[in-house]
Formats: sequence, C-alpha cells, structure tokens
Amino acid sequence: MISGGIDIGGTKIEARLFSDNLATVEVRRIPTPKTRLAEFIDALAEQVRWLEQLSDQGQALPVGMAIPGLIDAHTGRAFTSNLPASGHDIAALLQERIGRRLPLMNDCQAFALSEANGGAGQGFRTVVGLIMGTGVGAGLTCDGRLTPRFNGSALEIGHIGIPAHVLVSHSLPLWDCGCGKRGCFEQYVSGTGLAALGAHRLQRPVAAEEIVASAQVGDAEHQQVLWQWAEIASELLLNIQLTHDPDCITLGGGLSGIPDVVSLLEKPFQSVKLGEMRMPAIRTAIHGDSSGARGAAIMATRQTF
Ligand SMILES: [Zn+2]
Repeated sequence: MISGGIDIGGTKIEARLFSDNLATVEVRRIPTPKTRLAEFIDALAEQVRWLEQLSDQGQALPVGMAIPGLIDAHTGRAFTSNLPASGHDIAALLQERIGRRLPLMNDCQAFALSEANGGAGQGFRTVVGLIMGTGVGAGLTCDGRLTPRFNGSALEIGHIGIPAHVLVSHSLPLWDCGCGKRGCFEQYVSGTGLAALGAHRLQRPVAAEEIVASAQVGDAEHQQVLWQWAEIASELLLNIQLTHDPDCITLGGGLSGIPDVVSLLEKPFQSVKLGEMRMPAIRTAIHGDSSGARGAAIMATRQTF
C-alpha cells in the first residue's frame, strides 16, 4: 500500500510519499509558519493535498503526521514549544480544512516505529529508538508496534534526573533544564549538552561539532570531553535498560552521526550495567532523516489510531 507521511518540525514541514515497501518516492519541504495557527494549518493542508494528488489516490491515501512534542491521548491537544499550535488539537483543526482526520504522533515514537519496521531494529522484539539531537527523547516498540501509553507520550527520558554519583565523579554542577527542573539528562547528553560539557572542561565556548571534529583528529582535550559525554550517555542507556530492558536500542538525531558512536557508548555501558545483564544491541538508525514521516506513514497504513 502506498502511503504518505508528514514530519512537522520547527523550521520545515516535510511531506514524503512512500511506495508499497516504504521507500521514499518523492519529498516536498515547505517552511513552518512561525506565528499564526491558521497559516500553520493551511501549510499542513497544502502538504496533504500535494501527497493526495501525487499519489493519484485522493483522500484514500493513508497519511500520518509526526510532531516534536506531547499529544494528549484523550483530548488530542498538542504541547510543543516549536510550533504555533501548542494547546490545540491539530488533527481536528486540519480535519475542518481537509474533511478527514489524520493520525498524529510524537516524532520519537515515529522514529522508533520506523526503525523497528525495516530499519535498524528489524528482527528485535523490544526496540527503543533513542534520539539525541537538540533534545533527547525516545520511543518504544514491541513486536514492531508502539506500546500503549497512559499519557500517549513518548519516553521522555531526557527529563530523567542525572544520578548524583555521576555529577560528583565528573565534578559537574546541576544545570537548569527548559522543562523547569534541574539536572535532567538532556542538559548533559544532547547536542547542547555536549557543548556545555566542553565549555565546562575547556573554560571557553565550544560547539559540539568542534568537539567531535577535534577529537577525531586526536586532540586529547576534546577526546576527554567526548569520553565524558559517552560515560554520561551510557548512564542514560542504563536507565533505559533498567526500566524497559529492550533487546535493541537504535540511535538517531545529530549525535548519532559521531564517528564510531556505537563503540564509544558500548565501552562505558559495559562497565555501568548491572551484574550479568546482557547488553542490548546498539545500532545507528538506517532511515535517519526520513524517520518522522516514515513512522507516521506506517501508523496511517495500520490505522491503529
Ligand atoms: Zn528537563
């Protein structure tokens, strides 16, 4: 069955048409309207119409959508800091415009669903899709399907508090998080977290890209920052194992592009995991940038919304 997926981001709204085997047929990106809700819904409707016309299927084409943020499972309202639609039922507003209700999901869940079906998590029973980019979040699938969740949320693991012993052993302060709490993992292991670790150690502003590039060519100071990041990120992997015990963790987001990121994380994870617990397979994502739209398309074809 051909299908469409729409990945809604803070800067662009990306529509992808997928073939029967979920390969991308065509992509169209338009800028995300920043301030007006009506313009935002218009932009979504425009992308849906493009997909419907391109596919020759009209309204019979299954189309799903993914957003960065929480979606209330009962009211349908979205909570997101990057879109002019926070607090609104995006699917209902779009339905008024296009005449049908499309499924809407969290982008981390879309990522996990995409990688569990024909991606890096194919063949594993319990797959966590972990995105480490601007923010940190995850999705969870079992046997290729998303698990039901009380709040309909993704795994908001970026906002788990970092253990005190980790801060003490790395001589790090508690950093404030955008969620209103302090010491969330996201502040240490996201892209901005890596930059913050670098600035703390080097005592000057430094970009995450510079840390990775300089570590790659053998700069000892930058390598130490990257190892510190990996040690803290492995504590996050431990939290995932202790709470969900997946047999596969797939990595996405900008930091999954760090050279040899899997072995970089596996080494410290080996030393922090409990007792004889086996290591999950850690894999980098196969579908990368298309994951949001691809996962949303999978959900739409299954009509499990
Ligand atoms: Zn937080």
